Amino acid sequence: KKVITIGAGLGGLLTSAFLAKKGYDVTILEKAPFVGGRFTNLNYKGFQLSTGALHMIPHGEDGPLAHLLSLLNANVKIVNSNPKGKFFIDGRIHHYRKGWKYLGLKEKAKAMKLLAEIRANRLPKGEEASLNSWDWLKEKVGDNEFVYLFIKSFLGWAISLTPEEVPAIELAKEIKATLKWGGPGLIKGGCKAVSEELARIVRENGGKIITRKKVVEAEKGRIITADGTEYPYDILISNIGIKETVELFGRENFDREYLRRVDSLKPAEGIKINIALKGKSKIGNTVVFTLDTERINGYNEPSALSPELSKEGYTLIMTHQAIKSRNIKKEQQLGIEDLYYLFPELERNGEILMVQTYLDKNPVNRVASGNHVDFPMENVYIVGDANKGQGGIEVEGIALGVMKTLQSLGI
Ligand code: FAD
Repeated sequence: KKVITIGAGLGGLLTSAFLAKKGYDVTILEKAPFVGGRFTNLNYKGFQLSTGALHMIPHGEDGPLAHLLSLLNANVKIVNSNPKGKFFIDGRIHHYRKGWKYLGLKEKAKAMKLLAEIRANRLPKGEEASLNSWDWLKEKVGDNEFVYLFIKSFLGWAISLTPEEVPAIELAKEIKATLKWGGPGLIKGGCKAVSEELARIVRENGGKIITRKKVVEAEKGRIITADGTEYPYDILISNIGIKETVELFGRENFDREYLRRVDSLKPAEGIKINIALKGKSKIGNTVVFTLDTERINGYNEPSALSPELSKEGYTLIMTHQAIKSRNIKKEQQLGIEDLYYLFPELERNGEILMVQTYLDKNPVNRVASGNHVDFPMENVYIVGDANKGQGGIEVEGIALGVMKTLQSLGI
């Protein structure tokens, strides 16, 4: 069977690698001159920054993406963070377990009970499920400032949203996923190590990847690229988003109610700042959630596991923040001001390398976590960050969506 995959991002590469291994005749068409989309490295001033992700996998060695990579025998090394997280408050960094001391006795007991309920799969239902995360936590644990700041940082870091934007069911499922699969891990060599290895597996199994090929139109059984070439397909895998796929087929082919649902899907937007600090590792392989900053929600240090991502003598740090207003200049400025609070040595012993802003057509997530709309056409499958399912954080959600697609295809 002929498979056409539009887009060589993580979702497209992962699905195509499985299909090629199963003997399907796979061709990936990618508009950019490189593969990996928002999941590959970007060489800058001797540092390996990235086109998107922070070189980190949300559930590390034991999560859904690592599972799929091992099924493919991919030669990729992911190393779990240790500790799973830290937090920064009042000018100091603490181990995540120290967080318990900010809760009163009653709040602690309630928080423990909530975690036990989530672990036992007793998740919010009905009206409770659609409460916003903070209203839900206030009800369950109490109006505790530390809990608010922690959840705000976690959600901003993990899915570029605020607690007020995330429904209780989504947060509960993300907590459940974290209890099940554990915390994050860094990728040895960064995002590129994953994307390039998947591309190698596609090619090794007879698949083709054609770059600088933009798909501009789709119809039943064939697609057309910008240079006028036609490609027939039996199965179409679209890695470019749901709205974008609807546009390729033409909006006139979908009913009004469906278009209304697709148009109501919102992206999640964010800003990443890359900095270099002189000297050796600052925090190691972990994430620091920043609680009393104006905008930055957290940071990590990809060079802790892969010194080759950094210029010799420097440490590479990446911060991330959710975007909170349409005044993007101000959002960037507040992030930069946070940097000098978090890293007092930055002025004398460091450098801001690049501020990367992800919004509109190049967001952090094309569909904000927790939202999903199925694609109604036969033999057409959406993969990537527009099809993650509930509770799937970033690329783990992409892996879960790919698993569902493979199941629908009988693989
Ligand atoms: P994409 O990577 O967007 O791939 C889509 C591909 O399709 C692109 O290559 C594009 O060029 C191509 N394309 C588009 N239109 C066409 C067309 N018409 N014809 C042909 N090709 C086309 N996730 C994590 O797990 N951990 C992190 O630490 C993390 N941090 C992040 C930080 C930031 C700042 C950002 C932006 C994202 C982060 N993410 C993280 C999310 C992660 O990067 C994305 O979820 C993931 O890379 C998206 O993959 P995808 O397959 O959905 O799409």
